[in-house]
Amino acid sequence: MAVINLSLTDEQRALKAGVAEICKRYPGEYWRQLDQERAYPEAFVTELTRAGYLAALIPPEYGGAGLGILEGGLILETINACGGNGAACHAQMYIMGTVLRHGSEDQKRRYLPKIATGELRLQAFAVTEPNSGSDTTKLQTTAVRRGDRYVVNGQKIFISRVLQSDLMLLLARTTPVDEVKRKTDGLSVFLFDLRQAQGLEVRPLRLMMNHSTNALFFDNMEIPAESLIGEEGRGFSYIIDGMNAERILVASDSLGDGRWFVEKAVAYSNQRVIFGRPIGANQGVQFPIAKAHMSVEAAELMRNKAAALFDAGQPCGAEANMAKYLAAEAAWEAANACVDCHGGYGFAEEYDVERKFREARLYKTAPVNQNLVTAYIAEHVLGLPRSY
Ligand SMILES: Cc1cc2nc3c(=O)[nH]c(=O)nc-3n(C[C@H](O)[C@H](O)[C@H](O)COP(=O)(O)OP(=O)(O)OC[C@H]3O[C@@H](n4cnc5c(N)ncnc54)[C@H](O)[C@@H]3O)c2cc1C
Repeated sequence: MAVINLSLTDEQRALKAGVAEICKRYPGEYWRQLDQERAYPEAFVTELTRAGYLAALIPPEYGGAGLGILEGGLILETINACGGNGAACHAQMYIMGTVLRHGSEDQKRRYLPKIATGELRLQAFAVTEPNSGSDTTKLQTTAVRRGDRYVVNGQKIFISRVLQSDLMLLLARTTPVDEVKRKTDGLSVFLFDLRQAQGLEVRPLRLMMNHSTNALFFDNMEIPAESLIGEEGRGFSYIIDGMNAERILVASDSLGDGRWFVEKAVAYSNQRVIFGRPIGANQGVQFPIAKAHMSVEAAELMRNKAAALFDAGQPCGAEANMAKYLAAEAAWEAANACVDCHGGYGFAEEYDVERKFREARLYKTAPVNQNLVTAYIAEHVLGLPRSY
């Protein structure tokens, strides 16, 4: 039976305090500088890894802490609430779940302990393609078995942290779509070593925010046959399996953003005096901040419900999707309230508000856009006709 606790345990509070302690050493200036250079937060991610936080969800028998998804979420929420950006490392927490659930014992023993210590980084997850976008089953990248290798050809777009990762999880088609019963069949997942990859071109993309994102071109890239995770042709279900974790963790990034914006907005509105009184004394200033706070609080309850169901091994597709949706909306509401109350200073780089504003916006679009979440709820929760 899943139980939602309304307050954190002492261990969870200590976990957050430990992460916050590390975050103190990486203040706004650190993230701002990286943002300008579009550079990866190498020092921060290394310290977080060494302290074991990125191995939170890896079971103890493979060298991790064996914590639940809520604890994983609290780590990411704390990073963002402290002004950092958990996106630099959140993927490792949910990608490794695919290896854990569907990998062979040999793959788990080979990779998970090294991921836990930081000897190997698994931060790259390649699904999206220029010609298929959200319609994953239409992806065109192929992996064809030739003896003891698979040969990969195709393109991917918006694939993050490829240049900062040792390993990549890749979704590719192994059986042509016209030869399978269902379009979800014939897709396979591979885990391979990027450092040995020949025939892979990585082109960094300069985006709105610092996200280490790339376009990928596979030109007869050969990977060992043992890179295949689970059974050939069942990759789509493996990816779907990992999506609830991804939604809950991304919701946690957004909750942290929401908390940061509200805190920053309150501090500034109390301190900025215009027309002889703090701007926060005006309802036009305080109401949007108070409303954003309520939205963040409500989204947190949904994240906690989704996490409690997930950790109890119960179905949580609806709750994980709703948590991602509500948290991304709450963070965006808080972002706008924060920019508004800062007036012109909301646009000044040194306040970090504009940087966080750009970073928070992502989660309305990725890893899944809000329309597709809404379509999922309409169809699978409310029983309305499929809209696409
Ligand atoms: C910074 C960044 C990092 C990313 N990192 C990764 C990564 O590491 N790995 C990876 O695989 N992908 C990654 N992505 C890709 C991301 O997951 C996709 O951009 C996202 O899923 C949307 O796909 P798309 O861009 O092709 O949009 P499309 O699928 O083309 O959709 C465009 C818009 O149309 C609307 N839309 C589409 N279909 C429907 C429908 N049926 N009903 C209603 N509305 C619809 C949506 O609002 C959507 O926003 C990243 C993207 C960004 C921006």
